[in-house]
Amino acid sequence: MEKMIIVGTGCAGLTAAVYAARANFAPLVLEGHEPGGQLSTTTLVENFPGFPQGIDGPELIMAMKSQAERFGARFEYATVTEFEPAQGHVRIKLDDKWVETETLVIASGASAKWLGLAREKEFVGHGLTSCATCDGAFYRNVPVCVVGGGDSACEEATFLTRFASKVYLIHRRDSLRASKIMADRAMNHPKIEVLWNSAPVEYLADAEGEMRGVLLSDTVTGATRELEVKCVFVAIGHTPNTGPFRGKLDMDGDGYLLQQRGTHTNVPGVFAAGDVADRTYRQAITAAGQGCAAALDAERYLSHHG
Ligand code: NAP
Repeated sequence: MEKMIIVGTGCAGLTAAVYAARANFAPLVLEGHEPGGQLSTTTLVENFPGFPQGIDGPELIMAMKSQAERFGARFEYATVTEFEPAQGHVRIKLDDKWVETETLVIASGASAKWLGLAREKEFVGHGLTSCATCDGAFYRNVPVCVVGGGDSACEEATFLTRFASKVYLIHRRDSLRASKIMADRAMNHPKIEVLWNSAPVEYLADAEGEMRGVLLSDTVTGATRELEVKCVFVAIGHTPNTGPFRGKLDMDGDGYLLQQRGTHTNVPGVFAAGDVADRTYRQAITAAGQGCAAALDAERYLSHHG
């Protein structure tokens, strides 16, 4: 029986791990398919307090992880596939083995959304990606596009100007959702052209099956036209990673975990922190704050239950 298992190694999970480890719980921290969470695929993080010059996302994550390890957190690569509340504890299935724990902090974050167009899966890795940091350098001196109008889309578009000859920012409306500073940075960049009221409706392949462009539809007039690009970067938001908890923990209609009091879920001993439960703020610092709160809530739950 574990005292505390933490699911996820993004900002929320790692902060929970630092707090739980310092409280001597030696938490077991599970790293899933996307270790480090969204920060691990981000470039410069400029708004995490304490880093006046900014810090690279992966560097910040590595620092948090080694801080948690220093106090005794244990890390394991495993994915939660099933979850069952039991009397006074919970059981989770990790790939093919069941593990029992007195408390569970769910900080499994959220994963990138895709457009849902035909043959989308076939194009992933052949000119379709959701990670500019990972794949941007493969597309030097060629035109690319980013789909979306939020901070992620603006950040990715700006980052891609380092490599691409031209970056089209494709947005379905006529104004960006992004914060003013990020939007201004993208809109004022000479390599970035914003295509307003536009949405990709089809991916276009060349003879080798690689991306050669997208068919764009004007969301106002319905007119279509082809746009030649070598890579499409999709940045249209995220879906919470709550699949194994569906039907067992309270969630909203989009699958975000609902917190009842502090970070408590509806099942005693189970806590939620970070993007898996936050559709409002979704910042690295708010996720870290929630990770801290979840570890403290779990610690208090353990003391209260002897
Ligand atoms: P977001 O704010 O939810 O924006 C998603 C964008 O994608 C919106 O512009 C939306 O259009 C568009 N979109 C959604 N579904 C679409 C579809 N099916 N087809 C075409 N377009 C679609 O997501 P985000 O940009 O990933 O940001 C998430 C959070 O992280 C935000 O709180 C943001 O501030 C934060 N963030 C911060 C930083 C930073 O500060 N460094 C960087 C990245 C993200 P509509 O506008 O029409 O809805």
